[in-house]
Amino acid sequence: MASYKQPCMQCGALVDRDVRFCPSCESQNPFGYLCPTCLRPIEKGQPLCSGCGMRLYIVCPFCKKQSFVQERCEQCGKSLMITCKNKRCGVLQFFQNTKCTACGKKIKR
Ligand SMILES: [Zn+2]
Ligand SMILES: [Zn+2]
Ligand SMILES: [Zn+2]
Ligand SMILES: [Zn+2]
Repeated sequence: MASYKQPCMQCGALVDRDVRFCPSCESQNPFGYLCPTCLRPIEKGQPLCSGCGMRLYIVCPFCKKQSFVQERCEQCGKSLMITCKNKRCGVLQFFQNTKCTACGKKIKR
């Protein structure tokens, strides 16, 4: 099966279309933005997720300015992701998530 490569939206590296994260910058959405809780594709500028109704603009916990729900704050550039501490998971999750989208368990902080 041929694999198609597409540039990562975050770093520009060519990555396979079927990967779950970019091997170069470790971004989890190399081809676009995904809702952090239900993982539906979302567009920048969209106010709410059409899947789960989550607000797609949040107040950054670091600079207190408004940012789109992406991996890094649009304003200060700090990472908005936390690592799921559940055993054998370790997947990056949006800091507001209460349940891990990978293992489905409650995120321990
Ligand atoms: Zn990348
Ligand atoms: Zn959603
Ligand atoms: Zn910020
Ligand atoms: Zn997890």
